Amino acid sequence: MALIIGNWKMNGLKAGLAEAKKVAEGAKPGDQLVICPPATLIMAMSEALAGSNVLLGGQDCHAKESGAHTGRVSAEMIADAGATYCIVGHSECRDELRDDDDVLAGKVEAILRAGLVPVFCVGESLETREAAKAESFVKGQLELVHGIADRVIVAYEPIWAIGTGKVPSTDDIAAMHQSMRDYLGEKTPLLYGGSVKPSNAAEILSVPHVGGALVGGASLKAEDFLGIARAA
Ligand code: PGA
Repeated sequence: MALIIGNWKMNGLKAGLAEAKKVAEGAKPGDQLVICPPATLIMAMSEALAGSNVLLGGQDCHAKESGAHTGRVSAEMIADAGATYCIVGHSECRDELRDDDDVLAGKVEAILRAGLVPVFCVGESLETREAAKAESFVKGQLELVHGIADRVIVAYEPIWAIGTGKVPSTDDIAAMHQSMRDYLGEKTPLLYGGSVKPSNAAEILSVPHVGGALVGGASLKAEDFLGIARAA
């Protein structure tokens, strides 16, 4: 069964709880669904979804457990609020927070220390893809998790496919996932992310080595998110 993770990004006020409950109500036995809401909603959502088969995740964290870091949230806090997973290395964080490999290594370590599962995001820019360097670029990003390949989930999200409606060809997704599988071995669940929606999910999820999807825009409405789950 595919793992479908919804990344709500900076969307979701309290009213989002109702949408998350709809996902829980519409989930079928065996569905593996995860919602990563803004940190402000994790605790309320974990109470609202208790007993359902929808789990929760954070979208990012600080590498330290606690301390003088105004405005930041630690992996321990995300775990304490009721999450099981934490996204790390999303291209929006790499860009907006200027997270480099050293920072990301600390965050991945923090996520494991807190008992959460890291969802480590990688993916190339359009320029890198057009220069035919996508696979070597992604392999370079994956070096950071190579030694802990059995403890992470990896999400391949080409930057140019995020929120754009553009999706790589299934051949390109297949080639990238084969390359990641060859590098990481058999134990790492590999997801695809970037403009996944109910209408293209079945095709994407049938690509060899694609074990699920990381979904942004289409995770905000229960109907769309469940549509992707049904395609899996
Ligand atoms: P998208 O976002 O599905 O809206 O393209 C995916 C992501 O950024 O995780």
